[in-house]
Amino acid sequence: MKDIFCLTGGVLGTNTYIVPLANNECFVVDPAVDAERIAEKIASAGLRLTAILLTHGHYDHMESLQELSLLYPQAKIAIHSEDAKSLGKDALLRHYAEFASTGLVQLYAAFQGDFEKKPHLPEADFFLKEGEVFENEWLVLHTPGHTRGCVCLYNEKKKQLLSGDTLFYMGWGRTDLEGGDQRALQTSLKRLFDLPSETKVFPGHEQYGFSLAETNASVTRGFLTI
Ligand SMILES: [Zn+2]
Ligand SMILES: [Zn+2]
Repeated sequence: MKDIFCLTGGVLGTNTYIVPLANNECFVVDPAVDAERIAEKIASAGLRLTAILLTHGHYDHMESLQELSLLYPQAKIAIHSEDAKSLGKDALLRHYAEFASTGLVQLYAAFQGDFEKKPHLPEADFFLKEGEVFENEWLVLHTPGHTRGCVCLYNEKKKQLLSGDTLFYMGWGRTDLEGGDQRALQTSLKRLFDLPSETKVFPGHEQYGFSLAETNASVTRGFLTI
């Protein structure tokens, strides 16, 4: 089977992953880059997209969700129920309000074109639930802290972890936005560090493909004992 493929883009430089499954199917995690770029890669790899999974409800992780779901109407969209209000009718107004209330003025401006073009976001087709295994391969871990509905996806056989904005290379997600909770994030990170240390991590931003052992350094341990 082919390996995970990463495209980086969007206003905040978000990692969009194309994850191959058996039978030349695949799913996309966090569609942030242009839908055409994602579609080109899927086509050139000879894959068929069946699902679009969101690690959490922040807009920079779903910038091209609407376009991608129009290109692949059969692909099912999923998110954790705690972040479900980030999707569907009027969700854009909520994203807009969040940017405004947190003072992310530069984002507000950058996304404005999108908000004017798109009347609403698609609804979720199903929810990602703690302990469920997606497509017999990817275990859903509910890892709140950055948002209430953050999830990570763990492939035990391949020792791969899609970590969203919960865990980065030598870092972790901010907890000062709506739904953020430092204690919850510490608990979530401890769970992740209980996974095998050779597990390769594919986060929502910046460097990817490093091992848990590489990022579970003193800086991270320090945060976990605050
Ligand atoms: Zn986020
Ligand atoms: Zn992010």
